[in-house]
Amino acid sequence: MVLADFLTALKRSGLEPARAALFITTGRGPCRFGQYAPFLGRALRRLGLGDVHILAPDSDSGYRDVAEYAAPLKRLVWRALLAADYLRDQLHRTRPYELRAGDADRAHRESLGEAAGVLETRGPNGKGLANLAAALGRGRDRFRAVATLPSRDRLKIGVVGEIFCRLNTFSNDDVVRKIEKLGGEVQLSGIGEWVWYSNACEWMTLRRTGKTLSRRAAAASLTAWVQSREEAKLLGALHDGHEEPSVADLVEFARPYLPWEGVLGEMVLSVGKAIHLQRKGADAIVDVSPFGCMNGIVSEAVYPRVSRDNGGIPIRVFYVDHATSDLEYGLEIFLELAAKYRRGRRGEGGQATCCAAA
Ligand code: SF4
Repeated sequence: MVLADFLTALKRSGLEPARAALFITTGRGPCRFGQYAPFLGRALRRLGLGDVHILAPDSDSGYRDVAEYAAPLKRLVWRALLAADYLRDQLHRTRPYELRAGDADRAHRESLGEAAGVLETRGPNGKGLANLAAALGRGRDRFRAVATLPSRDRLKIGVVGEIFCRLNTFSNDDVVRKIEKLGGEVQLSGIGEWVWYSNACEWMTLRRTGKTLSRRAAAASLTAWVQSREEAKLLGALHDGHEEPSVADLVEFARPYLPWEGVLGEMVLSVGKAIHLQRKGADAIVDVSPFGCMNGIVSEAVYPRVSRDNGGIPIRVFYVDHATSDLEYGLEIFLELAAKYRRGRRGEGGQATCCAAA
């Protein structure tokens, strides 16, 4: 999918291969992710596109190795991720309740287009941030203008899992829309939490190697300070009541199952977020992962315990491979469990259901 996406973008851009770059982050953790960049490089060479640059910054170094472009590029990407997370969240809160089908998607499309336009415009950093904040404010107003039902009493379904799969609607077979059709409202984990997690992992490495007073540590602190300042400036004025847990909280929630000093990767965040969402009133947790994903498999192994320790909230991993699973059918049954869990939690006669992953 990554290769096909890149080839499509390259073709559309009309760029010479030597002027194009494939940007894909990499990591040295235990899963297949570290294989992507070398494999894609080989695939491009075989296609006669060996001149394409592969830009693959490493999560272990907090993506520092983008050389001289690191600071401005990281800042731009950070803003883009925050904007995308915010607008996606607005879409998921609005679409299930819209009175006229398509209004929320339209608001999302227009707002995303406007935010992308601002990000593409080079300018002084401060002004770029202010312009993006203004664009997001207009995006919030677009969503507010969507006519919605007065009642918001749908099943609340948290969606966690592998980053790319859970966020790419084609990859996940449009799982959010399917849940909405079945009567749910989704809270989908965004991508910003991964950036904070990478920062935390870098600090763990610095502590382990005794380099907490090094230049690298100073740079890591400065990066985190800039990121949190930009986040506050960008989203602080939007007042939408959305509350994201800190990564420090997430890794602590996950600690009894997957202590983060020894277990690296999205599985820690998925488990931590599942617990956070349960405490915030979610009626069930869906974990979306690609077939054979190591993160999904490890999370699946601990979810029965997570469920038992957290009120019996239904949790299930859905492996999306477009071939062997009937996602809609599985979700339909799963949302029945969510409804039963909610009735039990509200004392309406149902009994809390144990983990659907079991
Ligand atoms: S799909 Fe899973 S195993 Fe594959 S790279 Fe992503 S996280 Fe790793």
